[in-house]
Order: sequence, then C-alpha cells, then structure tokens
Amino acid sequence: QQKISMRGITKVFATDEMETHALRGIDLQIFAGDFVSICGPSGCGKSTLLSLLGLLDMPTEGSYQIEGQEVSGLSLSEAAFIRNEKIGFIFQSFNLIDELTVFDNIALPLRYRRNAVPKAELQERVMACLKTVDMSHRAGHRPNQLSGGQQQRIAIARALVGSPALLLVDEPTGNLDSKNGDAVMDMLSELNSNGTTLCMVTHDPRYADMASRKLHLLDGRILDADGTPLSQQAQ
Ligand code: ADP
Ligand code: ADP
Repeated sequence: QQKISMRGITKVFATDEMETHALRGIDLQIFAGDFVSICGPSGCGKSTLLSLLGLLDMPTEGSYQIEGQEVSGLSLSEAAFIRNEKIGFIFQSFNLIDELTVFDNIALPLRYRRNAVPKAELQERVMACLKTVDMSHRAGHRPNQLSGGQQQRIAIARALVGSPALLLVDEPTGNLDSKNGDAVMDMLSELNSNGTTLCMVTHDPRYADMASRKLHLLDGRILDADGTPLSQQAQ
C-alpha cells in the first residue's frame, strides 16, 4: 500500500536578492511498513524535504500525494488538518509543552482533530501509547521532571497517538547521550517492525543503517546507489 508519492517536487526560496533551489526534482515513494532514512551534508535540503512531507510548507512545483490524496495545492490551513490526521512528528528537541502534563502533551494531536475524539477513547489511546513507550507510570508528570531519553519517549507516544500514516523523524538522538540514543532508536525500530511507516533524517551512519531504505540527498537531489543524481539520469 502506497503511503507517500512525490513526483518532480521542487522548492525555491526567493528573496529580492536571490533564489535558493532547496529541492530540485524529488521523486519519492514510501510504502506501508517502510523505514526510510535520509542523509546528506548540511544545506542539501533535508529539513526542507521533511517540512514538505509533513505539510509544514508547500512545494514550488510537483505532485505530492498522501494515501492517494493530492495535497500539493492545499492552503496551509487545509494542510494543517491533514497533517494532524496523517502525520506524526518526532524532533531532535522533543518539543513538549512544559506547562502540560505528560498525558495532556500526548493527547494534544487528538484534541486538535476536526471531529472531536470522545473522552473515553482519548483516555484509552493516550494510555495505550504511554504503555507502548513504557512510561505509563509518568502520566501525571511534567516534561521537565523527566530525563531527555524519557522526554523523547513521550514525544514518540505523542507522535503515535493519532495512528498516523507516516512518522517523520528529525535527528531523534541529537540531544541524547549514546545510551539513550540507542534506546530511542531501538524503540523506533521496534515500532517499524510492528508496522509503523517511518521517514528519518539523521547524521549518524549507524542509525541510518537501521533503515530498510537509505536515501542520500545532495544539493536538492536524491542520489542513486552510484552517487548519480536521479533526476539527471536519462529517463
Ligand atoms: P539541510 O536540512 O539539509 O541542512 P535545508 O533544507 O535546511 O538543508 O536547506 C536547503 C537550502 O535551502 C539551504 O541552502 C538553505 O539555506 C535554504 N533554505 C532553507 N530554508 C530557507 C528559507 N526559509 N528561506 C531561504 N532559504 C532557505
Ligand atoms: P532542526 O531541523 O533545525 O533541528 P527541528 O527539528 O526543531 O529543527 O524542526 C524541523 C522542522 O519542523 C523545521 O522546519 C521547523 O520549523 C519545524 N518545526 C519545529 N517545531 C515545530 C512545531 N512544534 N510545530 C510545527 N513545526 C515545527
């Protein structure tokens, strides 16, 4: 089952002085159960690609379909609804809200649904996700009472609670020591074994190797296994 299809995606950032071609013709398919990693030097377009995949921004050109629905022409406010239902995010910096309990942080994506999730179902889903990341005993704590590794596990639970079609993961271990980093990666790997579809940006070759498919990005293009930009090859 195809989750994601990008065809000929470009992204140009234009100011009065200059144009930056951040993405130059991305073709990318992601299928149910894939674990895709994206590597490449600073400035090659990784963050731009993740923010387009996550509907945080729109491409300049090209087609983008999520589960068969064309989303590239949507306004950002329409896109926000689809993002909330189809995409989970895990960031380097956890991005938890310190004023909310762990429970309420995880519940947030459900509370922003277009159709309200009944209270009992919300409770059940949040607790199930807390159990998945082995943090059930911390539901009432605040994020700043937890270690970095524990906070990232809460962020994983928050990303899972809406049963997203795709989990986007940006340098998940960047703020963790190697022990906690390995634990978070083992957890992501196990989620993938249980069917979660993942797309992860990482600088760490060991973690990139855990993916079922490794993509290398250079200067806004995906390279093939020989290091040739795919979009420059004869069709
Ligand atoms: P990476 O995540 O691989 O480091 P980015 O996707 O952040 O790369 O950036 C790709 C290119 O696009 C870079 O040249 C960067 O300077 C440029 N860029 C990214 N975001 C913007 C923006 N909002 N405005 C202008 N240029 C941008
Ligand atoms: P970086 O790639 O520089 O480490 P992050 O991982 O924090 O940055 O964020 C990756 C992308 O997601 C960026 O384009 C950023 O603007 C966006 N972003 C970060 N936090 C949020 C958020 N809470 N909601 C929506 N977008 C976010």
